[in-house]
Amino acid sequence: MIDSQWQQDLFTQGAPELGNQYRDDPLLAAWLHRVLPGSVMAALQPELDELGRVAGVDLYALQLTDRENEPRLQQWDAWGNRVDEVEPTPLWREAERLAVRHGLVATAYERQRGRFARIEQFAKVYLFHPSSDVYTCPLAMTDGAARTLIEAGNPRLIERALPHLTARDPALFWTSGQWMTETTGGSDVGRSETRAVQDGGHWRLYGRKWFTSAVSSQIALTLARPEGNPPGGQGLGLYYVEVRDADGRLNRLRVDRLKDKLGTRKVPTAEIMLEGTRAELVGEPVNGTRAIEPMLAVTRMWNSVCAVAFMRRSLALARSYAARREAFGQPLVNWPLHADTLAAMEAETWGAFLMTFLLVELHGRMESGEISDQQRALLRLVTPLTKLITGKQSVSVVSEAIEAFGGAGYVEDTGIPQLLRDTHVLPIWEGTTNVLSLDALLRADLHAGLAALMGRASVCVRALKEPRLAAAGRQAIGALERAALWLESGKDSDVMQAGARRLAMTLGRGLQLALLCEHAQWMLDNGGDRRGFAAALRYSRLPADLMHEIDPGLDRTLLAQREERG
Ligand SMILES: Cc1cc2nc3c(=O)[nH]c(=O)nc-3n(C[C@H](O)[C@H](O)[C@H](O)COP(=O)(O)OP(=O)(O)OC[C@H]3O[C@@H](n4cnc5c(N)ncnc54)[C@H](O)[C@@H]3O)c2cc1C
Repeated sequence: MIDSQWQQDLFTQGAPELGNQYRDDPLLAAWLHRVLPGSVMAALQPELDELGRVAGVDLYALQLTDRENEPRLQQWDAWGNRVDEVEPTPLWREAERLAVRHGLVATAYERQRGRFARIEQFAKVYLFHPSSDVYTCPLAMTDGAARTLIEAGNPRLIERALPHLTARDPALFWTSGQWMTETTGGSDVGRSETRAVQDGGHWRLYGRKWFTSAVSSQIALTLARPEGNPPGGQGLGLYYVEVRDADGRLNRLRVDRLKDKLGTRKVPTAEIMLEGTRAELVGEPVNGTRAIEPMLAVTRMWNSVCAVAFMRRSLALARSYAARREAFGQPLVNWPLHADTLAAMEAETWGAFLMTFLLVELHGRMESGEISDQQRALLRLVTPLTKLITGKQSVSVVSEAIEAFGGAGYVEDTGIPQLLRDTHVLPIWEGTTNVLSLDALLRADLHAGLAALMGRASVCVRALKEPRLAAAGRQAIGALERAALWLESGKDSDVMQAGARRLAMTLGRGLQLALLCEHAQWMLDNGGDRRGFAAALRYSRLPADLMHEIDPGLDRTLLAQREERG
């Protein structure tokens, strides 16, 4: 009796709690108010409010109970038939139902909101993603496939697939995979070994695809080399594949196994063998890497939104915990250093958010045909820049959140470690940080993009009235100018490539700081909210200009050493 009383008196810590994730997000609401017409904002608000509740309460609770479930691959049925069925987790089934009902892909194609359609879509995705166990992965590829088919202008495939990819009826909805990476490489897909052989009016594909996420999708876009084509990316064609026939039989392909991954363990990422898979050309039998670019532009935008959403989720959990967890006689949040740590996470999150939603806004303009040449150049440059910088920021912020929980952050059944593991994929898939840095550096229209980026940052800074924001704005412009100067300095190709990531990060941080200052001034002018001001000043204390790390003397020495070695 005494023993059990003693045990009952032991301290137990309350778990962190999430509420309505829309109401609990001052930045999302303020930014939407800033950029959307009143009528659009009023129309969106009820659905955002509902999704905020679903994501923060119902789906989050299901996510915690579903924690140990993983997708299962059943390769054979009881009678020896090869079936290769993937059973998704219960949460994934619910996530699909919600995604279809809320039109997380469809919204972008219904175009009720004109150039604001992408903003509506991604405000919803931003709320939904962290509770979805990365169901956003197949959604991103589905959106990318729809865009790619439209841009390729293939009427048969548009008529066949688009109504399914953009359906709001779960019975009709299809998702798409994107089968690019092979054992020869995901960055250098020009080395792909998959062969395409013409067979009457269609094609048959032979090869191995090494990373195919969402292998449970109904269709996929994939790259293969028509027989006789030259090596390299130009010799590849882009193909459309339906994974099963009307009777559910696999289209001459085999799912060899699901990957055993660090994170995104709810996403069934498979290795598959194409053994004469029937396929249809999307466009010409060449230039497949160019034809799939719309897919990449879209999935990189999803990646950026998911990165910010993970940052925001980890911050929300860390904040809730800081209010409930006591140390040395008071809640953690009252300790200046812990509060400072959380504020630093918030500043990074706000910077990443503003850059990401600039990208979203520009993409919506492009699709509705309301985009200037300058905005188009900016869109092309900020697509890789936003993906690469937000991927890195999310890993850093989510990692900080793990530590903000102390030991609990390291323990699986709190649900916190999964956040870091899942986030860690964001800098890798859809183009690694280095590959995207080089993509930005080596693009033919870099100078137009850079001028547009400087132009956008200057607009942000010109509007600043608060003196400390104005100083931070000048710091942003200074970093961007230094990056431009470095670019024009005519260094040799090796030195330029070695500096590509620093260049990309400097452009990203400079733009984020300018956008933070602009938004902070708007918040001050519209109700006097000082949270944006605090975020901008804090962000400005970290260097935006990373170019100074390049030591030209050291570069020269290293190059000379290399030449000596031959
Ligand atoms: C969970 C998960 C799911 C995935 N799902 C899919 C999918 O559905 N479909 C699909 O097609 N792919 C998928 N991928 C694959 C992913 O896109 C690739 O892993 C990624 O593009 C990198 O390719 P790689 O693994 O071959 O690495 P590599 O291309 O071998 O790169 C290795 C390293 O070298 C660096 N590097 C490469 N070239 C250069 C260079 N020129 N200069 C400097 N650095 C360089 C890269 O940055 C990287 O750090 C998935 C990956 C993961 C982890």
